[in-house]
Parts: sequence; structure tokens; C-alpha cells
Amino acid sequence: MSERISGTPQGSAPDLDVLVIGAGFAGLYQLHRLRRLGYRARIIEAGDDVGGTWYWNRYPGARCDIESVEYSYSFDPELQQEWDWSERYAAQPELLSYARHVADRYGLREDITFGTRVERLDWDDDAYRWTVTTDDGTSRTARYVIAATGCLSVPSRPVFEGLEDFAGEVYWTSGWPHDGVDLAGKRVAVIGTGSSGLQTITAIAPVVAELTVFQRTPSFAVPAHNGPNEERLAEARKHYPEIREYSRMSRTGFRCPESQRTLTETGAEEVRREFDTRWADGGLCFSSAFKDVLRDARANEIAAEYVRARIRAKVRDPELAEKLSPRTYPIASKRMCVDTGYFEVYNQDHVSLVDLNEQPVRRITARGIVTGGAGHERTYDCDVIVLATGFDAMTGALNAMEIRGDGRTLREKWEHGPRTYLGLMSAGFPNLFMVTGPQSPSVLSNMMTSVEYHVDWITRALEYLREHGLHRMEAAPEAEDNWVNTTNDLADLTLMPQAASWYMGANIPGKQRVFMPFIGGVGTYRQIGDGVAVAHYHGFELA
Ligand code: NAP
Repeated sequence: MSERISGTPQGSAPDLDVLVIGAGFAGLYQLHRLRRLGYRARIIEAGDDVGGTWYWNRYPGARCDIESVEYSYSFDPELQQEWDWSERYAAQPELLSYARHVADRYGLREDITFGTRVERLDWDDDAYRWTVTTDDGTSRTARYVIAATGCLSVPSRPVFEGLEDFAGEVYWTSGWPHDGVDLAGKRVAVIGTGSSGLQTITAIAPVVAELTVFQRTPSFAVPAHNGPNEERLAEARKHYPEIREYSRMSRTGFRCPESQRTLTETGAEEVRREFDTRWADGGLCFSSAFKDVLRDARANEIAAEYVRARIRAKVRDPELAEKLSPRTYPIASKRMCVDTGYFEVYNQDHVSLVDLNEQPVRRITARGIVTGGAGHERTYDCDVIVLATGFDAMTGALNAMEIRGDGRTLREKWEHGPRTYLGLMSAGFPNLFMVTGPQSPSVLSNMMTSVEYHVDWITRALEYLREHGLHRMEAAPEAEDNWVNTTNDLADLTLMPQAASWYMGANIPGKQRVFMPFIGGVGTYRQIGDGVAVAHYHGFELA
């Protein structure tokens, strides 16, 4: 049972019942649910339109790595029947149109303030409300705040000495110009070879005059086999309820055959057959082929070597193929990429790879990028530099705000890593919910499945509070401690902590290295979350 503490809010009613931060897919659905239930709710959004990730990340080739029929809302059967997904994996423009369609279809725009960034939140424990201050100097009060701020929304922008001296154009994939960029016939340098880099490189290679890729760590990538979607969409339209039900209780939040077999106990020929089948199907299910791939180093190495052999088969120059083959971390311990002809790009004469382990970036000059050690410097001349250097994942957007709860800021509390109960609330910060917060499945799952679950869970909690005449909800410290320990223990059963990944916060200098998402699976997490709700919000203090 939850603990009840006594108290009533002092003072006048707040401006809003609920203030939601962010108009990405999480914020839009949250606003829709709240409006239907009669809450006075408003979204504050930094961008000038809805769409979140798909509003900002407009780089060439930007595309989802979960199939469109799964990376879509399930809450309205009519919406899912009426929307046409033209490709197996939707590209950014289509995803942005979808977000806009949803905003218009449900009349959400009237309750969204665009072009405004939340800077600070101050909790008033007498009035049980947050004061939310935005960058236009305005303050609003709200009983509840829901941070729908996204897991990969704050770009990581490493400092490259001399970047400001570069005479050409500089673009970050995470903030690509809305009018597009003409790269035709230009000499382009790309730094970063994660998902954003791979997609950009593949998309721009056919149009640029010269492409030089600066790689620090190669990525494992599985083929997307993207293409027209009529058949999949027709099948999905017939079976959406079953598809959604399956996804909600699955490990990953989308349809993916989960193997019960261990690789190390399966014959080599059968292992190969299973990998071949998944490779031919395409997509992220590759890493679910055997249940020990992420737990057993030997199994992991066999899976990794399968992918490296595929890279060798695609890249004609064996030395180059080796440079493109990851060897420094277990496969799937960094987010795998889903590609469409990425490795083949390097077979073209105008494309070259610079291995930053051999020649690190020294500085950037007016002409281009200088690499190498003293006496061995080399300048790569270019007209354009594209930076695909990633994000301050999971905690970045929350820590970017000054969130002051019971005295401390959230940033101070999370100095040694995020601490939450269920990834939904953090002790000391009452009435502040997070959608897909740290220590929830979030980035390890189909975000749509996880977003919908969290929004539904939070909405149900707000309804519970309203029905019981309650006004304050806070994670209990002991429940939070237990949850943090559980998530850490689960991660330690896997190979995930071995990688210097953004899951671990390792891409941000000075950030505490701790595995941030809950790795126990979407279905299991859902059962836990539902159990907590049924037990009158066990582990939360209600007032
Ligand atoms: P990322 O995976 O973190 O990749 C960043 C890349 O930049 C890495 O190759 C990194 O190298 C490199 N880098 C960072 N700082 C550098 C420096 N100072 N010098 C040289 N190289 C540097 O970021 P991302 O590609 O934006 O992807 C982040 C996540 O967003 C993905 O994992 C995925 O979850 C999501 N995403 C999904 C899609 C999709 O759905 N298809 C597309 C884009 C992004 P190191 O590895 O050595 O640090």
C-alpha cells in the first residue's frame, strides 16, 4: 500500500492542473488524455511545431529504426486505420507529418505554447504546486508537471578546437536547417558513426563530390530491408489489436521473435541458419536470436563475428573492412544501427575513412580538419563539416532545467547517476512525473509502446488522486532505492555495462557511468507498474 501523509494545499488554485513539457509523441498523447478528462492542461514546447525528435533531426536519411506500423500510436483504432505508412521504416518527413496530423486531428495546438523553453521548476510544498518559469520570463503555476522531454533531445556538442575558424559550412545532425542543405558537388566531412552518422553518410554519398568519414568507434549495423509498405500495412490493419497486445507484453515493445535458445548450446549450423533468417528479415530483432547474446561473452563474440563477416563481404578493401568492424565492445551493448547500404558506400572512390584511433582530430582550421600527432599532421580539406556526435541521453533534458524540489535540485540529486522509482518519479520532487524517464525501458524499447504506457500510467495515477481527494504524490525513498538497485542488478547480469555507450553516460565528459535504462523488458515492467497501481500506488507517498 502507498503511504498516506496528511496535508492540504494552501493558497489559491494553480494556473493549470497539469503542465506538460514537450510536444513530441509523449507530450501530444499526454495532452490528449488530459483534455479528454477535463484537466486544465498546457504543453510548453521549445520548437515552433510539434514532433520532438522528428522536428529537430532533419538530416538527410533520417529514418526510424522500428517499423512504422509499430512506431505509431495505438490509442485510437480510427487513427491507426486511417494513417498510411508508405515505407516499412518511416522517414523523418513522414513521421513529422504524422505528429502534425495527430495535433490537428485532436485539436491539440490550442493548448500548446510553442517557441518557449522551460528553464526552471520550483516546488511549493505549502501550496502543493510547481512554479514553472520559461525563457520568455513568464511563470505559470501547475499542480502537476509532466516532463515529456525525450531521451535523446539534448545534443552532445564536443568542443573541436578551431571549429569557429572553419571557412565552410558546419551542420549538426541534431539541429539540421529546416530548409535543407545543398551538398551536391561539395567536399563533405562527417564526424560520428552512430545511427545519425550512418544514415547521413549513406544518404549524402551519392550527391557529394568527396566524402571523408571520421570514425572513432565503428558501429554494428543490420540491414533494414526498407521498402514499400502496402502488404505490411494491409496485414497490420487487419490485426492491429493483436499486434499491439503482443508488443505491450513483449521484451522490446515491438514484434520480435524472442528465442528461448542459448547460442552456446546450439550447433554452429543452426546458429548460422538463425542469424541468416534474421539478417534476411532485417531490423533490430537480430540481437534477440539467442537469449545469451547479451549475457555470455562467448555467445556475444559469435554474434559479433557473424556481423563482421557480413561487413567483410560488403566492403571490397579488406583493410577498410577491418577498420569498419567493431572489436572494442560487445555487440548490442551500444545501440545497433539499422542500415540501407552503409558499408557499400566505402566501395566508391570518392568516399574515404579516417580512423581517429590512428590519427585523432587535432583541430579544425579554415580549410578543414587536421588529424594526427606532432610531426605527422594531415589536413583534410573540405567545404562542409557534418557533426553527428550524439546526445546527452536520458538525463540531459531533465538536468538542463533548474528543477528545485525539497531544497536540492534534481541535477544535484542525480550527480552520481539518476535515481527514480520506476522511471516515473524521483523522491524529493513531488507531483513531477517523467515520461520514459531513466530506469524505465524507454530507449531499449519501441519508444511508442513505452510512451503510451507511461502516459496511461500517469493519467491513471492523476485520476486516482482526483477521485480520492488527494493532491500530492511522491516516490518514497526506500521504494526508489530498491528500484535503483534492481535496475543496476539487472544490468550487471548482462554485458551492457562493458561498453562506453550513451546508455552508460560514457559519451559525456564528467557524467557518472551508470547503466540508465531498465533492462528487464517492456512486458515485465508493465506488470510491475500495473501491480503498483493496483496496490494503491505502493511505494509512493500520497497526501
Ligand atoms: P551516437 O550513437 O552517440 O553516435 C555519436 C558518434 O559520434 C559516435 O560514433 C561517437 O564516437 C562520435 N563522436 C562523439 N564525440 C566525438 C568526438 N569528440 N570525436 C569524434 N567522434 C565523436 O549518436 P547518434 O548517432 O545521434 O545516435 C544516438 C541514438 O539516437 C541512437 O543510438 C539511436 O537510439 C537514436 N537514433 C535513432 C535513429 C533511428 O531510429 N534510425 C537515428 C538516429 C539516432 P564514439 O562511439 O567513439 O563515442
